[in-house]
Amino acid sequence: MSQSSTRFCKRCLVEEISAEHYKHIQSYIAKIDDELKVTDITYQKRLDTCKECKHLHEGLCRACGCYVELRAVMKRNRCPYSKWLAVSDQDEADLALSA
Ligand code: SF4
Repeated sequence: MSQSSTRFCKRCLVEEISAEHYKHIQSYIAKIDDELKVTDITYQKRLDTCKECKHLHEGLCRACGCYVELRAVMKRNRCPYSKWLAVSDQDEADLALSA
């Protein structure tokens, strides 16, 4: 019987489950215009929130059907349950000043 290297995990991000799949996600994110993406600080805060959420399952949000590592990278996106919100350019600039 063959063994798979893929793990399955509730409240895990793709990064923690499949290196190959994560590479595809990172490649996709790299092609998005930087102006549309959140800062690393905001991205990490969003993902930390998702990791505590009961709707996260194997990297997917069961509330919206998105890979949270993709959804969380866009400024305009928000959590369907408002656990994290869309941010403006000014929000991100203010965050950078306070960091
Ligand atoms: S986007 Fe919202 S509902 Fe979905 S996993 Fe993240 S925190 Fe939970």
